[in-house]
Amino acid sequence: MNGRDAAQIAVDDAGAKVRIYVPGYPITDLAAALKAQNSVNEKVALEIALGASATGLRSLVLVKQVGMNILADPLVISATQTIGSGLVIIAGDDLGPRLSQIEMDSRFYGPLSELPVLDPRSPEHLYSCILEAYTLSEKLRIPAIVRVTARLLAAPSFAISRRTFPETGQEFERTAPDLTMRGRHQRHHHLVLALAELASQSTNLNRLQVCGDGEAGIIASGFPASLAEDLGVSLFSVAYANPLPRKLLSRFIDAHRLILVAEEPEPYIESQLGMDARVLGKLSGHLPRGLLEKADIMRALKTLDKEQKRVPEVYETVAGRGYAGVCPECPFIPLFRALGKLDVPVAGDAGCAIRAAREPYESVDVVYGLGSSVGVASGFRTKGVAVIGDYALAHSGMQALINAVWQKRDVLVVILKNDVAAMTGGQEAPDLTALLEALVPTTILECPCSEKELEKLLKEELAASGVSAVVVSGKCVRNDAGTK
Ligand code: SF4
Repeated sequence: MNGRDAAQIAVDDAGAKVRIYVPGYPITDLAAALKAQNSVNEKVALEIALGASATGLRSLVLVKQVGMNILADPLVISATQTIGSGLVIIAGDDLGPRLSQIEMDSRFYGPLSELPVLDPRSPEHLYSCILEAYTLSEKLRIPAIVRVTARLLAAPSFAISRRTFPETGQEFERTAPDLTMRGRHQRHHHLVLALAELASQSTNLNRLQVCGDGEAGIIASGFPASLAEDLGVSLFSVAYANPLPRKLLSRFIDAHRLILVAEEPEPYIESQLGMDARVLGKLSGHLPRGLLEKADIMRALKTLDKEQKRVPEVYETVAGRGYAGVCPECPFIPLFRALGKLDVPVAGDAGCAIRAAREPYESVDVVYGLGSSVGVASGFRTKGVAVIGDYALAHSGMQALINAVWQKRDVLVVILKNDVAAMTGGQEAPDLTALLEALVPTTILECPCSEKELEKLLKEELAASGVSAVVVSGKCVRNDAGTK
C-alpha cells in the first residue's frame, strides 16, 4: 500500500460517483486507479463536478500541476454560490519540478478562493484528509481542496482503518437566502469561513508532538511533516493549510524560543507567520526553496540561532539534470526539423512540441503552457506558427483559434495529431479534424512525410494571409493507445 492506494480507498469510501481528471504529473496514476474520466480541461472537469454535486452526487476532480489555474473561475464562484453534495478537488503539485514548466504551490488557492485546503503528511493522513474534505464540503456546501505531491502518493502506507461515510444525496438548495452577491460574500466570510476555521482547530488531523526543552519547535505541513518526525524537538504537524489553525499555531509558537517552518515548495505558512521574529524557515534562508529533505531540516535546526548568509544559488542546468528529448522514432521528427528551418516565430505548446525546443531541432521559440500556442502566435508581430498537440487544442487551444478567425489574425496552426495526450501516458484525445475543417482551411498530412514536403507546405501557408491549419497525423510510438 502507498499514498495512491490510500487516496483511492478514501474516494471509494466517500462514495464519489463522478470522478473527472485532466492527465498530468503527479496525478495521472491516481486518476487511472480511481477509473476517473478524462476531461478536455480542468474548468470543464470542475463544472461537470459542480453539476453532479448540485444534483446529489458526490464528486471528485483531480488536477495536475498548474491545473488549479484553469479551474479557478468556477472554483472561486462556487465558494459563494454554494453546492449540493460533497465536492473535493485533489490538486497535484510537481515539486522539483520533474515534468512541469513551473513549481507551483496550490495551497495559495486556499486564501484566494476562500475554500478549505488540507495538506496531508502521510498516506494514512491522506485517507483521513480526503474524508474530512468531503465532510467539510458537504456540511459547508463548498468545494474543498486536498493538496498532494508525488512523494506523498508514492510513500508506503500501513493498513488503512476504513470508515463508513453514508451518502446523503444532498442537492443544491434552490431556496438559497435572498442575498445579493455581496451578501453571499458577507455570509461566506461570517458564517462559512468561521465554521471552517473552527474545524481547522481540531486536533483530529492536526498533530502535536511535544518533546525537548522548548528551545526550538517545528511547524510542518504536507510531506515535510513526516520528514520532521523524531528529530528531538516538538513538532506541530498542520493539516489545514486554509484556514490555518491560528490559535493552535500561536500557542505552539509562544511555547518555544525559535520556530522552524518546514513546508514545500513555497514559504506559504511561514509568510503568514513571518512577522514574528521567532519564526524561521525558507524566507530567513534556513531552508531551501522547493522540495525539502530530512537533512535540510536537520541542518536548519543546528543553525537556527545563526543568521543565514545569502549564498549564491547554483541554478540547475539541463546538462546537469539530463533532458528527455524527442523519442528517436517519433513520427513528427521531420516536422520538428522543418519548423526549425523556418525564419518566422514559432510558439510551441506543453506536450511533445516542448521536447523539440532544444537542440538538435530548436523548432519552437516560446512555450507558455498547455493550449497557449495559438493565442501566443496570434499576437506575433508578423505571421508565425503555433505548434500544438491534439489534446492541447481541445484543452484550450480551440478558443484561441476561434478568436483568431473572429479577429482575422494571421497565424498558421500546426496540429500534431496522434489521438493521445502523449506526454502524460497516452490518454485519449478527441478528434477535432471536422471542427477544424469547418473553421479554417485545413490540410491533412499522414506520417511518414518528408521534411522537404513539410517545409514547402509550411512556407506556402505562411505566405498567404489569414488563419489556416495543417494537421500532421502520426502514431505515437511511445503510447500504443494512439490509433494513428
Ligand atoms: S511521446 Fe510520442 S509523440 Fe511524443 S515525442 Fe515520443 S513518440 Fe513522439
